Amino acid sequence: MDLANLTIASTRTAIAQKEFTASSLVKGFYEKIKAEDPEIHAYLTLCEERAFAQAMRIDDLAAKGAPLPPLAGVPFGIKDVMVTKGVRSTAGSKMLENFVPPYDCTAVARLEAAGAIILGKLNCDEFAMGSSNENSAYGPVRNPRDKTRVPGGSSGGSAAAVAAGTAVATLGSDTGGSIRQPASFCGVVGLMPTYGRVSRYGLIAFASSLDHIGPLTKTVKDAATVLRVIAGRDPMDSTSADVPVPDYEHEMGAPVAGLRVGIPREYFGDGLDSGVRAAVESGISKLQNAGCEIVPISLPHTPYAIPTYYVIATAEASANLARFDGVRYGYRAKNARTLSEMYRRSRDEAFGTEVKRRIMLGTYALSSGYYDAYYLKAQRVRTLLASDFETAFQKVDAIVAPTAPTAAFKLAEKVDDPLSMYLADVYTVTADLAGIPGISVPCGQTKSGLPIGLQVLGRHFDESTVLRIAAAVEHH
Ligand code: GLN
Repeated sequence: MDLANLTIASTRTAIAQKEFTASSLVKGFYEKIKAEDPEIHAYLTLCEERAFAQAMRIDDLAAKGAPLPPLAGVPFGIKDVMVTKGVRSTAGSKMLENFVPPYDCTAVARLEAAGAIILGKLNCDEFAMGSSNENSAYGPVRNPRDKTRVPGGSSGGSAAAVAAGTAVATLGSDTGGSIRQPASFCGVVGLMPTYGRVSRYGLIAFASSLDHIGPLTKTVKDAATVLRVIAGRDPMDSTSADVPVPDYEHEMGAPVAGLRVGIPREYFGDGLDSGVRAAVESGISKLQNAGCEIVPISLPHTPYAIPTYYVIATAEASANLARFDGVRYGYRAKNARTLSEMYRRSRDEAFGTEVKRRIMLGTYALSSGYYDAYYLKAQRVRTLLASDFETAFQKVDAIVAPTAPTAAFKLAEKVDDPLSMYLADVYTVTADLAGIPGISVPCGQTKSGLPIGLQVLGRHFDESTVLRIAAAVEHH
């Protein structure tokens, strides 16, 4: 069994044709994880009992010759911001070091109902705040493509596990780029669906109006398969959309000839690495050769995206993280003499530096006297950023740009410079603010062999076109 190269499609076929059993596959994956993951550090928790129980259910089905569900026997890893019943869920924080949730995140439950096997929980930046995975309370993840470099973040473990072949596919979350940017850094596919496409029930909240769950996979087709399983209305999340879920695998098979692809001028300016530019441009040429019409466009409010994102995301985070008070879940400081001392010390001792920085920024932006100047202003600019996309989508069917301005940077290179770390998200935060879908697909590498991602953005609920274009970049 060549575990490192298995895709969802090939795993499914091998299990259906009885080339191997789900149980032997799971055993193989745990051996690989135990041998190789200590160096990468993508996994925080393994759930072997749960995985083998599910594998046996799949093996029973296969033995009976019963029809197999779409993800039958496919080993997954889950970013540790999604709660899993009976399996520790830390969100990368010391605050939740011993937190064992009493229920499952909807996306995880849907994966398992479709036959997937959950191997374990994956490392990430604390509460998904970061771009390099270096904000995890449990230590960083190394990029399997170059172990001196970061895997990106905040879904660093989710991207690294797919790149290292220690999971066939994973789930991540994207609030400002955290699925697409690590996918780009690790050379895998990362899909952020439309806001509301996938239920957020059981996703430990960072910024609720920006949080999305989505898959990281080896191929675009695999991303389509996972999306179909996890998408769709969930009564437990009132923001999940009641919009029909198409057969993405089928729809993405349509040729791309005749599609109009917009190239936003603002995404190719200063700060874009020349190697990244060359690889993205070669991806664009492939689309042109496949018959796409390439249309120069402008998204004029792009320069305001990073400040807008960091006002809104921190404001929402400061409200969401108020629940971690030492009473309800997680860490509680010892020997506090008063209630307020217990609150203060629990939060002081269990939150990391970046989380504290964001709670303070967000509380400031929401406080009376500053609310209008910062938060309300940011909400207005958010509307302008969304209308940039609406205008563009009157002329084009999708937008293509770099995912990130550079390839993976070195570990520790940016830890002391939060502003330069924030700039790693310049090309990704706009889609989160507008709620539109986006994907990062590998399109080449730098001279030193580091992967580079190309990003495709689409209209609300039009993941099919996004997947179609990404597949054309991937295959030609
Ligand atoms: N890197 C961005 C941040 O630090 C995005 C994080 C995310 O998408 N979860 O906020």
